[in-house]
Amino acid sequence: MEVMKFGGTSVATHNNIQRIKGIIEQSQEPVFVVVSAISKATDQLQEIANLALSNQYQESLKALENRHLELMDSLFVESNKERIKLYVSDHIEQLRDICHSIHVIQERSNKILARIQSFGELMSSYILREYFTQEGIVIDWIDSRQMIRANGQYDRAEVDFDKTKKLMSQIDQNKNYIAGGFIASNEMGETTLLGRGGSDYSAALYASGLEASRLEIWSDVSGMQNANPRVVKEAGPIREMSYKEAFEMAFFGAKVLYPPTIKPVMENDIPLYLKNTFHPEEEGTFISKSGGHDEGKIKGVSSLPDISIINISGVGLAKEQGTARRVFQALEEANVNVILITQSCSEQSICLGLSAKDADTAVESINKAFQKEIGSGMLNEVEIENGQCIIAVIGDNMKNTVGLSGKLFSALGKNGINIKAIAQGASERNISLVVDKKDEGKAINIIHQKFFQKAIKQVHLYIAGVGNVGDQFLQVLKKQKKLLLDQNKIDIKIVGVANSSKMIHEPYGLTDKQIDMLREEGEAYTDFDQFIDKAINDNYYNSIFIDNTASQIVSDRYKKALDASISVVACNKIACSSSYPSYIELIRTARDKNCDFKYETAVGAALPIIKTIQDIMLSGDHINRIQAVLSGSLNFIFNKYDTSTPFAEIVRQAKDEGYTEPNPLLDLGGTDVMRKILILSREAGYIKEMPDVSFNGFLPESVANAPDNDIMFSEMLKHEAHFANIYNKAAENGNRLKVVAELNKGILSVELREVSPESPFFHLEGKDNIVAMHTDRYVNEPIIIKGAGAGAEITASGVFSDVMKVINV
Ligand code: ADP
Ligand code: ASP
Ligand code: MG
Repeated sequence: MEVMKFGGTSVATHNNIQRIKGIIEQSQEPVFVVVSAISKATDQLQEIANLALSNQYQESLKALENRHLELMDSLFVESNKERIKLYVSDHIEQLRDICHSIHVIQERSNKILARIQSFGELMSSYILREYFTQEGIVIDWIDSRQMIRANGQYDRAEVDFDKTKKLMSQIDQNKNYIAGGFIASNEMGETTLLGRGGSDYSAALYASGLEASRLEIWSDVSGMQNANPRVVKEAGPIREMSYKEAFEMAFFGAKVLYPPTIKPVMENDIPLYLKNTFHPEEEGTFISKSGGHDEGKIKGVSSLPDISIINISGVGLAKEQGTARRVFQALEEANVNVILITQSCSEQSICLGLSAKDADTAVESINKAFQKEIGSGMLNEVEIENGQCIIAVIGDNMKNTVGLSGKLFSALGKNGINIKAIAQGASERNISLVVDKKDEGKAINIIHQKFFQKAIKQVHLYIAGVGNVGDQFLQVLKKQKKLLLDQNKIDIKIVGVANSSKMIHEPYGLTDKQIDMLREEGEAYTDFDQFIDKAINDNYYNSIFIDNTASQIVSDRYKKALDASISVVACNKIACSSSYPSYIELIRTARDKNCDFKYETAVGAALPIIKTIQDIMLSGDHINRIQAVLSGSLNFIFNKYDTSTPFAEIVRQAKDEGYTEPNPLLDLGGTDVMRKILILSREAGYIKEMPDVSFNGFLPESVANAPDNDIMFSEMLKHEAHFANIYNKAAENGNRLKVVAELNKGILSVELREVSPESPFFHLEGKDNIVAMHTDRYVNEPIIIKGAGAGAEITASGVFSDVMKVINV
């Protein structure tokens, strides 16, 4: 005989019930069918029972009745309808009577609730039986309360296996049967229930009682997935697993299987299949003793939400024998189930993970049991932390796999997830971690990605700025996206984009078209925090915030992003050239939160200047002197200017081609170069502030103080003679003009200098930058880095390369 169980969604519609018919007709053996109540009926019945107290159940009861009547209308031919509907109406009437009594006596005990909830399975099994009969399948109906004996709590009764087996021995193995799951009865003949999700268990009890050849559990997923498919989009089916692995997955939240289901089938070695009613052709999961020969070390990752952890600590714990036993005894007496236990080696503390609903009772009972020790200071007051969850990583073969926990913890740490407690059972079939409830989905996704999606790595980008660099960055990304996916298995998703007033956000990734419509259709924000908050709330793993602006409003938010373990990549140099404490705080935060802060493009566009300084420092060398031309814009301007075209015109050209900052005075007034040499000196280990950088200005006052670009250009034009004079003087000496930044003996300076043909700076063309560094090891000949140091396209490619470094390409 074969036992098949169909869940709530499988029995909820005409179409689905037809599928069930198709499935049972395929069986070569007599079948024993177990069904759940139609989907959500058990919840609705609970609600009805609760509402009965205030006599407000009528509407919900009507809704429940209508769902059943509609289903029957679609299933039955006219001649059958009335008779079958009568059965349901009769049950609805009984429910009404019970609800009335609840209201009158103002008591809704678990005993009454069990009776009320049993109606779901009674009605669904009856309807299906009548439908199969109508369709020509000979099948008998069984009231599970006559077959399953379960005592104790009405809502989660304990099965008496011997009695149940004896009762089931009356069943004729040559016939087909259908019965409702979930329901049972106790010694007194009262209705009891097997716990929410208990129909799976009923089916396992029938399978064991009937010594069935197999048990199939049919639901709306193709078997046990390696993670909850509602949490991890990329979850995939586990083909084979052992009973023990299946139990662990089920116990730690894989709802597709009710945990007690395993015991009866495991004891009788009955093969268990988890299948999908909607895709019967799919293999699903096969559960047996051996669990197959799958080489995978980890089978799946699961989670239990709503956990609290309590900490019992104190010197008394180490000294006194039997303290742990007393803790567990107190909890047992208070009926509290402990899910996870860890004890520190020094035995100074015990940490327990338990269901949040039990937390207060647990604390109370322990405090009471140890009143004396707490009073004398031998034990501390019990500490409690709510709002936690347990993540469980499961697999029989995890044992003997060196480095697995390390890989697990580093993946979580890298994404800023703090692990509060760890328990690894002696069986090593399960590693359980307690993390903050808000990180539940994120942690599961990270673990899933690390162990199951070797193929594809998802990266989530939040981009500020769609100006010159920002736009070019989006172009580079567009170009590289497919290649990255195909060759590096990296799937980059742009989740949010913002300009100076609007933002768009799409948790599943923005399309190019949506990004193009930012100006027209974006959501206006009043505070840039709102954009960062989106990234924080998404709480995605591998999140990167990219700043392609020159705005302080944006750079002020790096700390907030880094605090949430969101890496920051910026071409904006404001943050790194603001006060030294805030610069160093960003670097420390990134380190503490295990994420990256990258800003290579803040100096010299894509040239590897910062990286080189960092490498020099890491190797133990010391930078004594830096001489540099760091402004591509100024270099472009002074290379082009030969008085044949007015200076103002050349500046305008540089601006139009994207070589200057949006406000060219930031370049001409020295601020940009001063910031850059300040950043380089800080990277080289010097603690410096902006006022430490001297600047020998070369602009006439009215140009330097111009309130906007228009006035600046007109003032510049008026002072053409001033610029021509500077140029001519240098030209007469055979020299060229360069704005040179310098760090020398700890002193920082920026000035417009004449450089002679012997200087390596003389031949610096176009918008190139050059940095020459003397170190303890490079004493006579400096290290020189030279190349294009400005331009939106090249800066964008540098930003892109920083992003690649963050994601480790
Ligand atoms: P039924 O009503 O048929 O008993 P359930 O709703 O109880 O079905 O169980 C199936 C659901 O379990 C799936 O729809 C899925 O959302 C959820 N689920 C959670 N974790 C897992 C997992 N690891 N594998 C498969 N399903 C899971
Ligand atoms: N109908 C019950 C519930 O919803 C039992 C089950 O579906 O397994 O919990
Ligand atoms: Mg279920």
